[in-house]
Amino acid sequence: MASQAQIRDFLAHWFQLGKPVVLAENRGECLPDPIFHNGQYSQAFEDCWHKIMVTSGRDCYLQGTAQSIAEMLSPVWEITPCARCEMPVAVPTAGIMTSLCPCDDLPTWPNTEIPMPRTGIDSQEQLTALRHRLSTVNGSSNSEPKASQKPLTSPPQTEEDASTLSSWRGMS
Ligand SMILES: [Zn+2]
Repeated sequence: MASQAQIRDFLAHWFQLGKPVVLAENRGECLPDPIFHNGQYSQAFEDCWHKIMVTSGRDCYLQGTAQSIAEMLSPVWEITPCARCEMPVAVPTAGIMTSLCPCDDLPTWPNTEIPMPRTGIDSQEQLTALRHRLSTVNGSSNSEPKASQKPLTSPPQTEEDASTLSSWRGMS
């Protein structure tokens, strides 16, 4: 059984590849943009989710899939990564997968040239981890002995520094 959080994650992944949700009662399609805001689901995404939940997901489905969001919320379905493209897909808990992954009708997918869609929920954590990695790299280069052996009277200046300085001079 897929939880609401899993289905929101599932939708967020496919929204990033331009796949809309088809809403019940002929209310059209829904493709929120932006999907994330400040590392959280955006208001546009929440609005779309609300439109889906008006019918508890009944008759709402991701374009290119056969099972409704309501069915995905039932114990019969679960969400697992697609064998072909690693995107989250809904599969029956028991029995045989009868429908293809929605990636089937995306001619340019899987595309290893571009980053995989992912949720933005943990982006703050990832930024913190990235900052930590960068500071570790900086720390190790500072501890190299050559830095302390350079004469203090002529500070090292790279070409990049010089060009930045001259461009500043040009601006003032
Ligand atoms: Zn796939």
